[in-house]
Amino acid sequence: MLEQNLKLVQQRIAHAAERAGRDPREITLVAVSKTFPAEAILSAHALGVRHFGENRVEEAAEKIPPINRRRQTAITWHLIGHLQSRKVKDAAPLFDFIHSVDRVALAQKIETRASALGKKIPILLEVNISGEASKNGFAPEPREQFFDAVRAILTLPHLDTQGLMTIAPIVAQPDDARPHFGALRALRDELRARFPERAWQHLSMGMTEDFEAAIAEGATIVRIGRAIFGERNP
Ligand SMILES: *Cc1c(COP(=O)(O)O)cnc(C)c1O
Repeated sequence: MLEQNLKLVQQRIAHAAERAGRDPREITLVAVSKTFPAEAILSAHALGVRHFGENRVEEAAEKIPPINRRRQTAITWHLIGHLQSRKVKDAAPLFDFIHSVDRVALAQKIETRASALGKKIPILLEVNISGEASKNGFAPEPREQFFDAVRAILTLPHLDTQGLMTIAPIVAQPDDARPHFGALRALRDELRARFPERAWQHLSMGMTEDFEAAIAEGATIVRIGRAIFGERNP
């Protein structure tokens, strides 16, 4: 089941990349293991998955250390869920990549912890590209305000800002999400022009329902849970 699911997802990623004239190797699959037990993660790891995403710090704090002790090859752990300031202390040592930096004050907290740990943490800036009230993320408008926030974050020496992340709205057809993904890519291109000292290499966008649309619009990281591990119990 897991093996077939994973193969199918990998094939779909490769086909979506080819259709877009892209090299599938430039797309990283993050297997979103939230709510699934350590055994499922270790099984996926045995099948070659090296990137896993968790959205809650408490759950991650229980799952990650024992898995790291058992696995043979390194796992890159991605924090993809909203991060509360008071949880930064616990998140900083656990995660290798934080996708959900959505305010300057949070970035400053992460900077302090990363500095104390002597580590530089790769991060993405989460953007609320659709403007839905229910979503976290920087507002992309007014642009100058967003750029001011970016400028402040780029001064933090223990954060390695590598790009943008977004969650598209729930839509009837996956292709309906494409304008949102395209808007994130356009924003990334503006950042490249405005802050050329960074590569802005990553666009983390696309989940089970819409990852092919995201790849068509330039996703370099897709975050996929259910298509790999099955439906989550609420
Ligand atoms: C749960 C989650 C995903 C994966 O969603 P699926 O529908 O299971 O693929 C991706 N990104 C974020 C931020 C999530 O919370």
